[in-house]
Amino acid sequence: MSDLTKLSLSEAVSGLRNKQFSSREITQAHLDAMEQARSLNAYLTETPDKALKMADASDAKIAKGEGGALEGAPIGIKDLFCVDGVKTCAGSKILGDFTPPYESTVTAKLWDDGAVMLGKLNMDEFAMGSSNENSAFGNVISPWQRKGSNTAMVPGGSSGGSASAVAADLCLAATGTDTGGSIRQPAAFTGLVGIKPTYGRCSRYGIVAFASSLDQAGPITKTVEDAALMLASMSGFDEKDSTSLQRDVPDFVSACTKSLKGMRIGIPKEYRMDGMPEEIEKLWQQGIAWLRDAGCEIVDVSLPHTKYALPAYYIVAPAEASSNLARYDGMRYGVRVDGDDLNSTYERTRAQGFGEEVRRRIMIGTYVLSAGFYDAYYIRAQKVRARIAEDFRDAWEKCDALLTPTTPSAAFGIGEVSDDPVQMYLNDVFTVTANLAGLPGISIPAALDHQGLPLGLQVIGKALDEETCFAVGGALERAAGFTAKAKKWW
Ligand code: GLN
Repeated sequence: MSDLTKLSLSEAVSGLRNKQFSSREITQAHLDAMEQARSLNAYLTETPDKALKMADASDAKIAKGEGGALEGAPIGIKDLFCVDGVKTCAGSKILGDFTPPYESTVTAKLWDDGAVMLGKLNMDEFAMGSSNENSAFGNVISPWQRKGSNTAMVPGGSSGGSASAVAADLCLAATGTDTGGSIRQPAAFTGLVGIKPTYGRCSRYGIVAFASSLDQAGPITKTVEDAALMLASMSGFDEKDSTSLQRDVPDFVSACTKSLKGMRIGIPKEYRMDGMPEEIEKLWQQGIAWLRDAGCEIVDVSLPHTKYALPAYYIVAPAEASSNLARYDGMRYGVRVDGDDLNSTYERTRAQGFGEEVRRRIMIGTYVLSAGFYDAYYIRAQKVRARIAEDFRDAWEKCDALLTPTTPSAAFGIGEVSDDPVQMYLNDVFTVTANLAGLPGISIPAALDHQGLPLGLQVIGKALDEETCFAVGGALERAAGFTAKAKKWW
């Protein structure tokens, strides 16, 4: 085996099981790659000792013919997931050196299945952002660059450390979270697969909360099969999360190769935006042709409330964030900046501990929840949310899944959009709808644009029908044959 870091997760798992290489070898190969790639700023915390200990334990299990579905495979964890005894700061300074004394359910499940932890991945502060420029620990750099240019590019956000690390072969796969697009958009920007499952499929226990009614965990991986393999490990009912669904986890892996004969794919006409590059429209048409060739029937559908999704999201998500982030007051965790009295201690701690975007969201959220504006903003946004969910229910009368572009543009350079928050928010125009309606959505790398940057196609499925997302995603992956990798410059 020449370079173990180039393997997909499923190739690695079978190589380990067949004893072609050991977990210690593949783990060490990734730790070496991480050391050489520090300029990407993908990892906030590396845990080499823990990784090698876990790898040795996996090797011992494999030697006895035991082990779980991910036995011995090294992965990265977004810094939003609490890992017992490992610093977790959600990309924020306000958490200081917070080291949780407990484990998130999703990571506990991954370790139970034998995965090996390489470290915690950089992200936008509290998962607010689309470019990773909002991390308190410096932006993550994408391994991808425009053809003939060395401008540093964003990996997308908020799971940008996860995307950058998987794309640069610094882990076999990574966890992400998606509140408005934070798994799918960075996956699309870096030529990877990312799935946000149905709300409630993965437990949110032990994941630092951003907007609790929208947050979901999911994987960012190199292939559709890898995403299925990893999501199967991450999913399942958890009594510690009252919104987690009491449903069995289907066989996601075998769904990836299911035939699409007779499946109806809806094309929502509202998923077109002024100023969207023609290449994206062309890729969408190409995706339609691929699915038609795979035996699907293509139907036009309408999701008339789509244009209200982003405005509704930017009321609901900040409202929930302002409430969730009230706990960071300098009394319990991390940073504390003393003032003259209790109120000024709160004020100074929060002013210094939170970054600009987080402060902006808290102010918007507090405003829309305040007595005089609650009905005008928050209640109306909730009503819009119900309409959006209804649009999808109507669409399911005519089709089994929807095909859309994942993002309205390819990745951009660091600093190119960051002074215009509204422009930045537009990144999620095609992804937030699935969060508002609680539906699963997967992004599949489908092509390179004229700059040599990856573009993704999104498949949105019915609630609890990740299997159809994987089936359609698998067909798109086979048709697109996307094998491009970022050229190593770091
Ligand atoms: N970009 C969106 C935001 O900033 C979504 C982030 C996410 O999904 N965590 O809110």
